[in-house]
Amino acid sequence: MAFDRIIGHERQRQRLMEAVKQDRLAHGFLFCGPPGVGAEALAIELACAVNCENGPGEPCRPPGSPGSPGSPGSPGQPGQTGEAGQSGQAVPCRHCRRIRALQHPDVHILVPSSSAPPPDRSSRRGGGSSGRSEGSSGRGGGSSGRGEGSSGRANAREERRQGLAARLAEDPYVAPPFGMNDLLSVEDVRSLRREASAKPYEGRRKVAVIVAADRMNAAASNALLKTLEEPPGTLMLILTASRAGKLLPTIVSRCQPVFLSRLHEDEVKSALIERYDVAPEEAGELATRSEGRLSEALAARSEQGSRIREDAFALLECIYDGTPLSLFEQVESLAASHREEPVAEKILDHLLSLYRDLFVLSSASGFHTLSNADRTEPLRERASGLNAEEIEQGIAAIEEARRDIARNAHVQLALLVLILRLRMNRRYTGTLQAPSTRMPTRETPSGNTSSHAQPAAD
Ligand SMILES: [Zn+2]
Repeated sequence: MAFDRIIGHERQRQRLMEAVKQDRLAHGFLFCGPPGVGAEALAIELACAVNCENGPGEPCRPPGSPGSPGSPGSPGQPGQTGEAGQSGQAVPCRHCRRIRALQHPDVHILVPSSSAPPPDRSSRRGGGSSGRSEGSSGRGGGSSGRGEGSSGRANAREERRQGLAARLAEDPYVAPPFGMNDLLSVEDVRSLRREASAKPYEGRRKVAVIVAADRMNAAASNALLKTLEEPPGTLMLILTASRAGKLLPTIVSRCQPVFLSRLHEDEVKSALIERYDVAPEEAGELATRSEGRLSEALAARSEQGSRIREDAFALLECIYDGTPLSLFEQVESLAASHREEPVAEKILDHLLSLYRDLFVLSSASGFHTLSNADRTEPLRERASGLNAEEIEQGIAAIEEARRDIARNAHVQLALLVLILRLRMNRRYTGTLQAPSTRMPTRETPSGNTSSHAQPAAD
């Protein structure tokens, strides 16, 4: 199978590999799909396939990966001439190695950034190995000083960019924790164009990967459009995006689209077992909760992931059993965590999965797998005191709060309103409809009320 480092997406992999081998690659690609299904991983592997010392064609396999040349039981690849390591196992060529570490002079990776602090390295997922240990500096040299004024902000922005890129280099399936303010600026796009315009230094072809291209403002979009209209030299541009609707239609129309769907649950489960050494039972539970996104399963294993899960469960307990004061304190603490790293939507995602489990348990309509099977007993007890209508209303209220927060509503207020609605549902189900309380958003221009605005199309 083509691009065997990629999980799932067989049809898309095959199609891209044929284009590589026949030298029919487009100048611009748009890899579009939900976050965490492998768009960035596929972009990096495509850059390897184009520039591999043994190619163009199937890129070198990372050392130790199942079926890599020299590994037990592997038939090897004809024409594969990677250097041999001390163990006799072939190692990837210098191009594949450096491209995957995001350190190749001909492959440029542009990641959105802001002047917020770099992601905390200690909160990365625990366990597992992606088979690589090289760090990454992302694109460009940059400086780590965090001085004052505009140069200080530029340095802080570059430092954060490098931190986010390092996560991708370590494992492209771990979604970088982009915050609301992480954006691609017009200067980012211009400087990428400058760097990518030169002839390839070592590889066959210049490749630029723009990660989360849907995080671009109008000026950056126009600069990118110019590059797509007149691609310099041999440059191949690969955009990844989870919300194609946020891109200029003229950008989309100039790229060859590659749509990536959610992964199958068994693909996530196998990847967790084979690549991340997760025990089969835990892998099954994580895959069920992942909604087809490997990054979600990996995040749930991290320290932060389990904290988010605990927070969601504590919130559920507090909604029904807490005093008004304890609820207020909890919301305040969640809002404070959200200011450090955007976690509110993730907590609500987990709260939703708990409510869906409550629905399954309360309806007793036969056997369904619970997303939170490890919490079956407390959830069963909770479900026994609720009826299906209450739970359905709860799910609708959480989904609405999640949409409001995604649209930049005030997080603390949105959470408080949600909790009030959930408590009111509890008291008045069947006799009184909970009020619809849509949150005003900060992005609303004055004079234009958004209280009934439709959520932005994704
Ligand atoms: Zn190679």
